[in-house]
Amino acid sequence: MIEKSAVLIAVGDELILGLKKEANAYWLSRELVLHGYDVVALEVIGDDEEVLVDLLNRWAGKVTLIVISGGLGPTHDDRTREALAKFLNLPLVRDDEAYDQIIARYPLESRENLERSREKQASMPKGARPIHNPLGSALGFAITVKETEIFALPGVPEEFKAMAKHLLDSLEKEALLHFALCKVIGWPEVQLKDRIADIVQRYPANIMFLPEPNVVTVAIRGSESLVSSLQAEIRGILENDVLPEGVDNLEEAIINLASKLDINIAFAESCTGGMVGESITKVPGASSVFVGSAVCYSNQAKETVLGVPKEVIEKIGAVSEECALAMARGAANLFETDCSASITGIAGPSGGSLHKPVGTVCFAVTCLQNHRTWTRHLQGDREMIRLWSNNIALEAVWRELKKLDGKRRSEGSN
Ligand code: ATP
Ligand code: MG
Repeated sequence: MIEKSAVLIAVGDELILGLKKEANAYWLSRELVLHGYDVVALEVIGDDEEVLVDLLNRWAGKVTLIVISGGLGPTHDDRTREALAKFLNLPLVRDDEAYDQIIARYPLESRENLERSREKQASMPKGARPIHNPLGSALGFAITVKETEIFALPGVPEEFKAMAKHLLDSLEKEALLHFALCKVIGWPEVQLKDRIADIVQRYPANIMFLPEPNVVTVAIRGSESLVSSLQAEIRGILENDVLPEGVDNLEEAIINLASKLDINIAFAESCTGGMVGESITKVPGASSVFVGSAVCYSNQAKETVLGVPKEVIEKIGAVSEECALAMARGAANLFETDCSASITGIAGPSGGSLHKPVGTVCFAVTCLQNHRTWTRHLQGDREMIRLWSNNIALEAVWRELKKLDGKRRSEGSN
């Protein structure tokens, strides 16, 4: 048995047929890793009882935790309960009390259908513990076999996550390992690895790199004292590029800092099509600093809404630093903000040229009297280029705010 180890199994024909992107095992694996688990395998299988029984035979007794997602619904292709009963050689029995709690939440008109699904949805292998489903009608359950805890949870991602969060909460209390995350902004992963190579060399098993567009999370795991000293060391080296402890993302860092400085913010977006507005408004409290984001996709919109001069677009082009600057200034005027950022680029797959290939994205940021423009040549598909652009623009705003914060602090201390 590998201590604190897990295998995650996602069940669903749609997942192996490529009709739906698997979301549950991928999400939970990261959470488990952050809880100090060794995730040994992610298995994605069809709605097939035999294959699930085979997997359970393979992993039960070898890992401490197996989490199965899906196959608990009321239809004929939902076979997880049957597979577990077969594997355990136990009968399926109904837990009516647990199912009653679920259907009590539903309006009367839904109850008839739920009653019809009772036989299937309330059943679990004898001796299993029911797990309440706060969002849907399929009961989950847990059972221990050969010292492996097996959890079966519904596949609908919202339901799976809500129920798995309870599981994670229960694990946290007994976590032997500690975790810290350093979110490093604007560093290519390879350069970041070089920069902290000597730390990684000393503690290779304790440091992981989790790259996302323009953000690399350095996850540190180990004993409490090791994690805290490694974190201090890494934060010391990357002081200017790492988000403050406890801040999850750039958006949150921007909102915290802008609120502190009493600065309001606007955006002008072309190829990101509103993504920046969407990401910033995901954070509660955004309204205290975020005023608006103008999505100006066509040249005409750039001219009429943001006041980009026609000559700039005609002579230099909509994908240019001049246009980006006019867009950012236009957004600051339109929304009457102290700070603004803009994005204009070619996300592809078409629209590129020799001089401005797909992935060429121009940016501008303005903050009080300062402004800056720059161009990036981004790689990847359309979505990747848009995500990178989003995070690069956010990074620029964050850095401007940090500069201003530093300035105000030094003025304050004089
Ligand atoms: P339940 O146990 O809740 O009935 P299920 O797998 O039996 O789950 P389905 O009807 O097959 O339910 O799936 C419900 C929805 O959830 C479908 O849209 C399905 O594609 C999606 N889904 C199921 N499993 C996953 C998964 N691992 N990742 C992403 N989506 C999933
Ligand atoms: Mg399914």
